[in-house]
Amino acid sequence: MPTEQAFIVIPCFDEAPRIGRLVRELQPHIEELGDVEVLLINDGSGDNTLEVFRELRQTYSWVNYLSFTRNFGKEAAMLAGIDWVAERGGAVLIMDADGQHPPVVARQLIEATRAGASHVVAERNRLDESLRRRLLARVAYGVLSKIMQVSLMNGQGDFRMLEAELVAVLAAMPERNRFSKGLYAWLGDPDEVITFDPPDDLPVRKSRWSLRALFSYSIDGVTSFNDRPLRFILLTGLTTGFLSFCYMLVLLAAAWRDGITVPGYLTTVFAVTFLGSLQLVSLGVIGEYVGRILVEAKDRPMYLIRERSSGQPGSPQ
Ligand code: UDP
Ligand code: MG
Repeated sequence: MPTEQAFIVIPCFDEAPRIGRLVRELQPHIEELGDVEVLLINDGSGDNTLEVFRELRQTYSWVNYLSFTRNFGKEAAMLAGIDWVAERGGAVLIMDADGQHPPVVARQLIEATRAGASHVVAERNRLDESLRRRLLARVAYGVLSKIMQVSLMNGQGDFRMLEAELVAVLAAMPERNRFSKGLYAWLGDPDEVITFDPPDDLPVRKSRWSLRALFSYSIDGVTSFNDRPLRFILLTGLTTGFLSFCYMLVLLAAAWRDGITVPGYLTTVFAVTFLGSLQLVSLGVIGEYVGRILVEAKDRPMYLIRERSSGQPGSPQ
């Protein structure tokens, strides 16, 4: 079997100071392995990432790039890469531009794929992160996996390699609310997991993932995967309905026995506020789904490309 062409897809947002170093570090591996190219995606960077891309393209013939019209987010950037590679029928390796994903590990992923694996994941340990963040990650992964009913593995992110057939499956998924971690899990268990330590020589840079961003990402994960929250509010509604019915019977019995007595202020206030908030939460959950239906129904493209490197065989110019 001829070696499958592999493409290393690297989404970049304001990575001008870092991307050059990564490409230079990838060079020896790419030249030794053969049949490997790099696709850089400029996700609307505010710095001169695009100029760096153009220079890299001049220097290395195996560097290709796409540049978006604005920042569409990492999911969109990865999708652009997957679409681009699917058109060419190659395998995809996704990695970050900021140096957190070591080139040596990328090489191991490619070698594992060439040895026959169709889905190989690089799993990092989280020893470099604060205890609070590690705990939070563990809880979030546990809860999400339970709700979504797909197995999300802590430490396994987008740094992975998929052979051409799986790339085609991902490219064919029409959804706009993309939650890649869930989509990978949907594909099935990886054939191989390669563990690595995150590099410790990186200048400290705050992750772009604030707690708020993580929270909304989790909601995306849940709502884009199944309708369990809807069932949950239905169950909550049924339970509170049943409880209030029982309570009504108690009140009726009391009224039967003692006649109507006026006190009941607390019960009334409690019932109004509790049920009121329950209804708002339920509406909110339904709203999350309606919002997603809206996004899917609009069917807008996930990204817009302003510029691409030219001269690749078969590439639309
Ligand atoms: N990224 C992107 N678009 C964005 C945000 C990030 O393409 O809107 C890229 C970024 O350049 C990097 C990768 O996604 O290559 C991971 O981003 P970051 O390092 O901020 O995330 P973390 O490592 O904290 O998961
Ligand atoms: Mg990073």
